Order: sequence, then C-alpha cells, then structure tokens
Amino acid sequence: MEGKVAIVTGASRGIGREIALHLARLGAKVAVNYAGSETKANEVVAQIVEHGGEAFAVQADVANSEAVERMVKEVLERWGRIDILVNNAGITRDNLLMRMKEEEWDAVINTNLKGVFLCTKAVTRPMMKQRYGRIVNVASIVGVSGNPGQANYVAAKAGVIGLTKTAAKELASRNITVNAVAPGFITTDMTDQLSEDVRQAMLQQIPLARFGNPQDIAHVVAFLVSDGASYMTGQTIHVDGGMVM
Ligand code: NAD
Repeated sequence: MEGKVAIVTGASRGIGREIALHLARLGAKVAVNYAGSETKANEVVAQIVEHGGEAFAVQADVANSEAVERMVKEVLERWGRIDILVNNAGITRDNLLMRMKEEEWDAVINTNLKGVFLCTKAVTRPMMKQRYGRIVNVASIVGVSGNPGQANYVAAKAGVIGLTKTAAKELASRNITVNAVAPGFITTDMTDQLSEDVRQAMLQQIPLARFGNPQDIAHVVAFLVSDGASYMTGQTIHVDGGMVM
C-alpha cells in the first residue's frame, strides 16, 4: 500500500481508528476524518507519525455535502490523489418502530446512508481521472438480517449494501472497486452501551463464541483495498464470527 492515499471516515475511535492505523502500518498515507473530537483524531495521527507513517486529521460531518467536498479538496491539495475511501462513520439512535422519533430516523439515515453517498460521490471524480480507486463501505449484518429496535440503522445499512452494488457497477469500467464489510458484534464504544443481558444473548448466537474486535474488521478492509482483491467488486463480506450465514 506504499504511496497510496486513503480517507477513513469516523476514524478518531473504534473500528475507524483501527482501520486508519492498519492502513498506515501497511504504508498508506491516511486522512483521519472526524466530526467531533479533534483531540482523539490528533492522537490517531500522532500514533501513525510516531511509527513513521504520514497522516493528518480532517474535520467533516459526512452528512454535510459542503464539508465533505472541503475534506476531499484538502486531501487532494496535500497529497494530489485519493486511492482509498473507507466509509466507516456511523451512529445509532435505537428505538422500537412505534416509538421512533422522526429525528432519530433522520439522524441515522443522514449519517449512515447519505454520508456514504456524499463521500463516494466526492471521490468519484479524482478516482475516475486516476483510473484507480478502492472504496469500502462499513455496513452491518443487521442490514441483511434485520434487528428489532433498529429500523433506522437497518434501513441505512441495507441501503449501504444496495449503494455498494450500484456504485460497483457504475465505476467498474474505471478500475474502481466498491465493496462492503458487514461486521457482526464488535467491541467498541458503540456496543459498550448495551446491557450485559443483551451482550450475553448475542454471544449465544456467535458460532465462533467471541465478540469481534476492531482489528478483525481492519484486516478485511485492508484485504479489500489490496491488489489481492482487485477482481472483487460489489461484494458484502460478513465479518461476524458466523452469526449470519
Ligand atoms: P463508534 O461510535 O466507536 O465510532 C463511530 C465513529 O464515527 C466515531 O468516531 C464518530 O465520531 C464518527 N461519526 C459519527 N457521526 C459522524 C459524522 N456525521 N461525520 C463523521 N464522523 C462521524 O462506532 P464503531 O463501532 O467503531 O462503528 C464504526 C462503523 O461500524 C459504523 O458505521 C457502525 O455502524 C459499524 N458497525 C459497528 C458494529 C459494532 O458492533 N461495533 C457492528 C456493525 C457495524
């Protein structure tokens, strides 16, 4: 991945942070996108630089088209190209369907689905010019299986899987691949909010009998953006310990 330029959205913590660190370890220059905590994003950048890599933190709410265009412009001004986009930023606002507020629906759809559309659209032009691009979207197995209490999140993630296939078909002729990873239960701040009862119930459903960790996802993302995966596009890879087959 030496010399490749990557943008990882929502990279200041959790899965995104691990993807940013792992791509940097493999030689990519990484734009560490964040929406909230600049301090945390700078910590990721510092860790990459400390290990001899190149990175910078770039603020942008992925649901805001102007902010996303500004982010892409900043990366192009700094490094002149964009080879890899990992659409990782995501939120949850769980509620049962009958209680779900319109704001909860909109917030999740805007970040988790519209955000993927906006970031993908913004990198399409430079990637088409380069005749090279690798896009990986972080979906979720619930986008395939459904999940009570997460109508907004499931609809967004199912949308991401559909968007992945369409973008893959539209961009293939320019040597741009678009794939998705669908994580199962991964231990991060997002899942730390769940009760012990819910965690135990989840564990019972995982054939490999453990929760995933961010490294499990980062390794598969790294494969999907590597030359070894250059004949794969439009695919959604489940990384879930066998939870959904
Ligand atoms: P997390 O909450 O730890 O991290 C999410 C990151 O996205 C945070 O850094 C947050 O600041 C950032 N973010 C949120 N809204 C943003 C916005 N509008 N613009 C830019 N950045 C924004 O969660 P995580 O568990 O690391 O999740 C990462 C991705 O993996 C998400 O897309 C999530 O849906 C998906 N996922 C997670 C799990 C899991 O079990 N943890 C399972 C399936 C899918």
